[in-house]
Amino acid sequence: MIATDVDKIYPNGCHALKKVSLKVEKGEVVVIIGPSGSGKSTFLRTLNQLETISGGSIVVDGFDLTSKHTNINRVREKVGMVFQSFNLFPHKTALGNVMLSPLKVQKKTQPLAEKEGKDLLYKVGLADRMDNYPSHLSGGQQQRVAIARALAMMPDIMLFDEPTSALDPEMVGEVLDVMKSLAADGMTMVVVTHEMGFAREVADRVVFMEEGELVFEEQPERFFNSA
Ligand code: ADP
Ligand code: ADP
Repeated sequence: MIATDVDKIYPNGCHALKKVSLKVEKGEVVVIIGPSGSGKSTFLRTLNQLETISGGSIVVDGFDLTSKHTNINRVREKVGMVFQSFNLFPHKTALGNVMLSPLKVQKKTQPLAEKEGKDLLYKVGLADRMDNYPSHLSGGQQQRVAIARALAMMPDIMLFDEPTSALDPEMVGEVLDVMKSLAADGMTMVVVTHEMGFAREVADRVVFMEEGELVFEEQPERFFNSA
């Protein structure tokens, strides 16, 4: 993923991103930290085009997300995203949530979507919860369903926007463990988080944002040793 000189000016004039450039290699895990309001969430949202950009370009695996001709469904396939709030469909089971995009967007057959969905729920430790509705799952379980749902599109890169911030403390570990195993599997990841233990353990690089700019990047051991 190569983001080059990404600029974002919101309609209200807020200049949220100022020429942000970031290259993430295949299999790399980059953690973004920085104060509230520094543009971390805006940057992640531009990376899957939830937010249009005012300037610059974003290329994932040779595919230009920001070209005028780009089909937004292709972007959703390439770039998976997990939010602070899980946003599961309440009237669908865990498996139903995970199968939805493969069926509707990718037009996979029901048996294939179901098999892949079950495999993914198994992978995030929810083999025994597939038929539960979100209201019968804990926050940590719901977030793991949300991760499985994003993975169901077989994305090239996964974005995480404060994935554990809305969770009770005792559920943070189970979500971070799923993210760690994804990283170990070689998934390319960009993670906004306050979990410094995760950053130290899993990140290949830590990037710091301030007032809409990427001010420095470090390998984690150098970052934590200088802090
Ligand atoms: P962070 O994720 O680092 O807390 P954000 O990306 O949420 O930062 O916000 C960066 C800046 O952009 C802030 O000044 C925020 O108020 C502003 N901002 C975020 N979303 C919007 C929006 N939808 N409209 C206008 N300004 C926004
Ligand atoms: P976060 O930092 O987790 O994105 P915020 O509280 O900054 O959370 O923002 C919550 C929502 O409000 C986001 O959807 C963001 O885009 C929007 N928002 C933030 N700042 C502004 C703003 N100045 N004007 C309009 N919307 C904003």
